[in-house]
Amino acid sequence: MKWQGRQRSSNVEDRRGQRTGGGLGGLGGLGGGRGGIRIPTGGGGSRGGISGLIGIMVVLGIIWLATGQNPLDLLTGGSSMGPSSSATSRQLPAQGQDELADFVAVVVKETEDLWSEQFAAVGEDYPEPNVVLFTDRVNTACGLADSSVGPFYCPGDSKVYIDLSFYDQLHRQFGAPGDFAQAYVLAHEVGHHIQNLTGVLPEFNQRRQAMSQEEANAYSVRVELQADCYAGVWANYAGQQNLLEQGDIEEALNAANQIGDDTLQKRMQGFAVPKTFNHGTSAQRKDWFERGYQSGNPGDCDTFAGAV
Ligand SMILES: [Zn+2]
Repeated sequence: MKWQGRQRSSNVEDRRGQRTGGGLGGLGGLGGGRGGIRIPTGGGGSRGGISGLIGIMVVLGIIWLATGQNPLDLLTGGSSMGPSSSATSRQLPAQGQDELADFVAVVVKETEDLWSEQFAAVGEDYPEPNVVLFTDRVNTACGLADSSVGPFYCPGDSKVYIDLSFYDQLHRQFGAPGDFAQAYVLAHEVGHHIQNLTGVLPEFNQRRQAMSQEEANAYSVRVELQADCYAGVWANYAGQQNLLEQGDIEEALNAANQIGDDTLQKRMQGFAVPKTFNHGTSAQRKDWFERGYQSGNPGDCDTFAGAV
């Protein structure tokens, strides 16, 4: 991706290196082990004892690999904990000092430009999300999260959270190298922000309460595929801005493929269990990214009508 020299977003909060969680009592041990966030979903078999914590989180689908459990990246329940009042965020370092952080800030800016245009076209302002860079753990309006959950979006504070070490993991563990794979991850999370604004996420969060685990998983797949489609719409926009290099789209498609539920599960356990899928198969994720990319129109990202 030809991102050097492009404008950077001013909505990136750099919380890297901040200590987190000291005042949060036992929450750090949630889920055991490294503190992977457990998902208190209704009817599921993997309750982790943090029901009542938090709002809702949307991540890319990595929890399952990191913790060996259902990766549904949504936390529901009453929020008893706001963001930490710890140290204030640093500004991003001067350009050139931290290339990956710069890259993220550029991609975020390009998503802001796209979605501002889209919202303006229907006479609306686009409330830009913040993107928080953190290391290891972070306090959010959705609770305390650690890096093992992967990048995620928290509707409660309208922020995307990412530990940049995920990108190394994306490359080495998930076999998805390349800067456009990295950009796809961000554009997907921003897609969840769009869904929060359009009402898709709030509706999901409400309706899933009455659903079986299997129904909620199927619903989640549609939510996630729409975020992939929005990421594709952004890729189309990046192309219009002349930011694409040869191989970029392939990098994103490969990433979508590598984090498909079937591919992840086969890699982990040798077989896939379709009723537990909650992000979509590799084929579905590639397909919806591709649809968004070809069309460039978020209106073509209706994953809730018909089969996906
Ligand atoms: Zn997602």
